[in-house]
Order: sequence, then structure tokens, then C-alpha cells
Amino acid sequence: MLDLTPSEHLDRRALRINPCKTCQPVGALFAALGVERCMPHSHGSQGCCSYHRTVLSRHFKEPAIAASSSFTEGASVFGGRSNLVAATRNIFAIYDPDIIAVHTTCLSETIGDDLGSYIMDLEVPPGKLVVHANTPSYAGSHIVGYARMTMGFMSYLTQKTGVPNGRCAVLPGWVNPGDLRELKQIAAQMEVPCTFFPDQSGVLDAPMTGTYELYPKGGTTIAEIRGLGDSESAIALGEIINEEPAELLEKKWKVPYTLLPLPVGVAYTDAFVMALQRHSKLEVPADLEAQRGRLVDLLLDSHQYTYGKRVALFGDPDIVLALTSLVLEAGMVPAYVITGTPKETFTRKAEALFAQYGAEGCIARAGSDLFELHQWIKRESVDLLIGSSYGKQIARAEDIPFVRAGFPVLDRYGHSLLPVVGYTGGIRLIEKISNALMDRFDRDCAEEDFEVVM
Ligand code: SF4
Repeated sequence: MLDLTPSEHLDRRALRINPCKTCQPVGALFAALGVERCMPHSHGSQGCCSYHRTVLSRHFKEPAIAASSSFTEGASVFGGRSNLVAATRNIFAIYDPDIIAVHTTCLSETIGDDLGSYIMDLEVPPGKLVVHANTPSYAGSHIVGYARMTMGFMSYLTQKTGVPNGRCAVLPGWVNPGDLRELKQIAAQMEVPCTFFPDQSGVLDAPMTGTYELYPKGGTTIAEIRGLGDSESAIALGEIINEEPAELLEKKWKVPYTLLPLPVGVAYTDAFVMALQRHSKLEVPADLEAQRGRLVDLLLDSHQYTYGKRVALFGDPDIVLALTSLVLEAGMVPAYVITGTPKETFTRKAEALFAQYGAEGCIARAGSDLFELHQWIKRESVDLLIGSSYGKQIARAEDIPFVRAGFPVLDRYGHSLLPVVGYTGGIRLIEKISNALMDRFDRDCAEEDFEVVM
């Protein structure tokens, strides 16, 4: 498997092999599923929509609903206006959502369908809504699609009544439902009234009740999205994914925002807690401090197995940067840090982390791919690989311990239900990382070094 990857590295610009990203509409669909009673709609061919749904369903192990404009040859040549008119009429009649969130695809973007004008002309039933975002997949990645759909909802729906609602808007970035629950728990501990948008908890981790719910109980409500303009402040988590959405909220409605990394590990969770503390003006509660102390204690206890270990990290930019911060806190060396999303800010931020912790000889690259990562590993290997399920072939080919984190995780269960954010998520990650390294030590050590107590 992957035996033919050459170790000789050429600087490729025009070709990606085994890309470390997927297409914009996947992100748009994921964002739309974080809105209550929303039907995401793919304006393109059925094949695209099937793929987008499949990748999300396989990661979350839950149905990811979406409708399609079902382009055929006619729409591809003459435009998809009539398909969208028929689709929205059918969707409201059959599936009764409160809102349809339309995203474009490569095909509808290439032929130049003007979604803004199409939507203005739609006959939308009273009390129902249609919003859209442009998500051409030949640019950016699913991360960009997520941000664009978030901004699509904001552009169509947010308002300012002039009466501040006392709430803090939290843009949580691309995280799992388990992470959203942990972030909400921290906000509740800090006694900050927050509106999380989008919020897939309850939707993509719906409990088994024996009855299928097309719209599981969860998601940010339309009223809450409208109220974002009345927020007193905003916290945007994920410096790559959420910079533009946060700026939009500030420009449109003068909501001041704090842009932070995803709160993974000690320092980045501290930053989130401090941002909440500025809103609440309360002392950090003792139980949250105790959680932090337990993570620090675990970092110290496991240090003898993590210190100096070389690790390769890949995946979406914000989670990779946050995981890089965590492994640096654990004394590890993030030898290779890549994302497939072409955002140079990623490279600068990763290099700033290397400098902050004095980690030398580390490489960071945006717009990279897993082929390139494999080539680097073949030249100089690592002790651990951290990333999505797409790293498992490299882990097998090079016999490297592998910790799954980020998106997508297609070959394991439970990952989306448990957090990696917050102090609790940090404890979970350090447990996974140290267990992977210690399992490898047990497998490879000499018999006289094989100990029950480690
Ligand atoms: S054609 Fe474009 S939108 Fe459709 S699945 Fe492929 S990359 Fe995504």
C-alpha cells in the first residue's frame, strides 16, 4: 500500500495527489445542518449532492439530509432556474422545512446561475425562508464553503433592533457535536448567555428514540440568527474559518468580536475562558480551574512518553493549528504540519507556534496534500501521525502509530460524540496520544523492558 510513493520531493504547484480537503458544498451542507428545521439544498447534479451527504453521514454516523436541483443536460445548458423553482415548491410541500439553504456546485457556478436573483423571484410560502451561498468547488475547500454558508445566513437574516440582547454570539467553527456540548458547558460554567451559530449538536448526534425525525431537535433557531445583530459581543473560534464571518457581523451590525484559535489544549482553552470572562466579569469558577489543573497534571504525568517525540499533523487548518499547540504543550516536535486548504495564514500561524515553543526544523504548509506528507515522512520519519482517516494508509505503509482527529473520521465510532476542545477534550487527546505511543513502546521494547507499571 502506497509502496510507490517516492521519497524524492518535487515542488508541485499545479497538481494535488491524495488531497487533504474536500469540496466547498460539503462545508455549506454541514453549516446548514446547524440551523433548526433547515433543509440544505444543493443546486447542481444529484451526484454532487449524494457525495456531500455521504461524506457527512459517514463521519457522523447519522443521516445528513439535503435536497438537489437534479440538473440534467437541459439545466446544464440553459441554466437551473426552473429546477430551483420546482425544487423549492416540492421541498416546502413535501418536507415542510422552515428554511431552505441553497448552495451552488461546480456546475451551477460554471454556467453562471445567479442564485441571488433566482431566490428573489421564488414564490416562498408565508413564514418560510430561502437563503443561499456561492460555493464553487474549484476554489478553497469545505472550510471555505462552511464560512460562506455561515455568512449566507447572516446576510439574509441578521438584524439590529437597537435593543442589545445581552448575549454573546459564539461562532464555534468546524467542530463535532461533542465539542459543541463542551463549549456550551464551559459558557454555562462562566454564566455567559451565548448564542452558538451554527450548532449541529442534537442534529448530527441525535439520540436513538425508535422514531425517525427528519428534523431532529437541535440547531440554531431562525430567531436566534436574527438576534445575532443585537449581540453585545462575539467570540469567533477558528482563526482561519471564522475571520470573515466575524468581520461580517461587525461590519453589518457593529458587533465587536474576539477571534481565537479553536480551544484545544491549555493555552487555547485559557484564551476562550478569558474571552468569556470579559463578557461575564465573573471569576473563573473553581470547578473549571480544577479541570484545567487535571489537564496540566496529565501533561506532566505523561511527559516522559511524549517529550521529544516527532509528530506529523494534517487536516483542516484550525484543528491542525490547535492540535499543534497541544502537542507542543506536551513537549512533542510537530515535524510536519499541513492542511489542504490554501490559506497562507495557516503557514504563518504554524511557524509562529514553532517559534513560540522553540521547535526547530519543523515544516508547515497550506495547500498541501497527503502525497507530499508521505514523501517527507519517507525521508525522515515521525513517531506519531495525527489526522483524519485518510492518514491510515501512510500509517500502515510506514508503520507509524496513528491518532484519528479532525474531519473526516470514517473508520471509527464515537469520535463525534466526545470533545477534543476544552480542558476535558485536552485530557481525552493526551490520553489517546500517550496510549498510542505507549502501545508502540510495549510492542517494540525488549522483553526485559516490558513492564506492567509504566
Ligand atoms: S463536481 Fe464540484 S461540487 Fe460536485 S462533488 Fe465534485 S467538486 Fe464537489
